[in-house]
Amino acid sequence: MSGRVLQMSGPAVVCGLCSSSDVHDLYQIKGWQLKKCHTCEAVFVFPLPDCEELIRDYQDNYFSSGDHLEWGYEDYFSLEDEIRETARRRLRLMQPYIRGGKLLEAGAATGWFLDEARTRGFEVRGVEVSETAAKWGEGSLKVPIFKGTLREAKLADDEFDVVVLWDVLEHLTEPLTELREIHRVLKKGGYLFVSVPDFGSVWARLMGRRWFGFTKIREHVYYYNRRSLSRAMGRAGLKVVNAQSSPFLVNLDFLVSKLAQYSKPAAGALSKLLGWLHLRDRKINLRTVDLFMAARKEV
Ligand SMILES: [Zn+2]
Repeated sequence: MSGRVLQMSGPAVVCGLCSSSDVHDLYQIKGWQLKKCHTCEAVFVFPLPDCEELIRDYQDNYFSSGDHLEWGYEDYFSLEDEIRETARRRLRLMQPYIRGGKLLEAGAATGWFLDEARTRGFEVRGVEVSETAAKWGEGSLKVPIFKGTLREAKLADDEFDVVVLWDVLEHLTEPLTELREIHRVLKKGGYLFVSVPDFGSVWARLMGRRWFGFTKIREHVYYYNRRSLSRAMGRAGLKVVNAQSSPFLVNLDFLVSKLAQYSKPAAGALSKLLGWLHLRDRKINLRTVDLFMAARKEV
């Protein structure tokens, strides 16, 4: 109820996915206010951080931030095996819908997914705001990656058979605008494949404000479940054809390092134990963390 009262006295807050003003306070985390839309169930940071500022922060240190509990990745390059295996599994999920053609990845990072897609016959292009990551992909893998935002890339209408957005939508302050831009560049009958942290997962429901999905608040500004993401897709002219858990491969060392946000001593002890058992590199698939969605451009 307090959210309702606060909202009546302050400026109207409108959900960026469905435009409803039936929006209430959810949690305060690390000084950020999270709001929840009761119409589509989207959760978002309010006020949203400045987009230009975020893009500046995605430069140099994002992929080697040294502190993954606050921002970016401690060392993204050490995760190549897991990221490529996740890419191969996502490509298998895409197979029933599309097996070739022109593929665009928005938020391509270092281009490992593009590299895997290319070996399966896709003609690939990427867009990436981090200049360091894009340059690395272009230089080392020879995959074409535009440095900037999707809109800055000024792509032609109806150009792509498939667009993928892996763990990107949660970072965007204007996700609906991005989905509409993707609809514009997709051919009629083309597909969009998305993964996002799943706010509808059993983890999010059980853990509430302590859900690990909130660790990257500010970097992650929108939190989705099946309902809110489907609705946003629909508003952008995309028809959802599949929603399920996304493959998400991690090694045990990475997983244990994430536990440090709950208990540093426990994470330290577990890390030592994994070392003794030679299990630090063991990969596991966290099936219940990310949501995978496939959608088709109908008109
Ligand atoms: Zn909404």
